[in-house]
Parts: sequence; structure tokens; C-alpha cells
Amino acid sequence: MSFLKKLLGRAPVDPPIRVRVCIECGMPVEKHAAWCAIFRTQQEMDQKRNASGSS
Ligand SMILES: [Zn+2]
Repeated sequence: MSFLKKLLGRAPVDPPIRVRVCIECGMPVEKHAAWCAIFRTQQEMDQKRNASGSS
């Protein structure tokens, strides 16, 4: 079964998916927990930007 060895030896290795994990809530940054302080801060900053961003 040498072909099996070849297969195993050359098994395509999926590149590790780099997911940014929030240091506050420990969730991926795209899925912050609702209570996450960083998430709330981001939301506040976004709101400020939107509020003052009326050219
Ligand atoms: Zn978070």
C-alpha cells in the first residue's frame, strides 16, 4: 500500500485559519459577546464617527 503512504505523506495540510480572537470576551472579533467592553467601545466609536461624519 505504498500509495497510501504517499497520500499520507503528501496530505494537503489546510493552512491554519487565523481568527482574531478578542482579548476581552475570548470570542472571534466578528462575534463579540454582547457584554464585551471592547465591542461596546467599538460601537461607541462608530456612533461618534457617524454622528460627526456629516462632511
Ligand atoms: Zn470582544
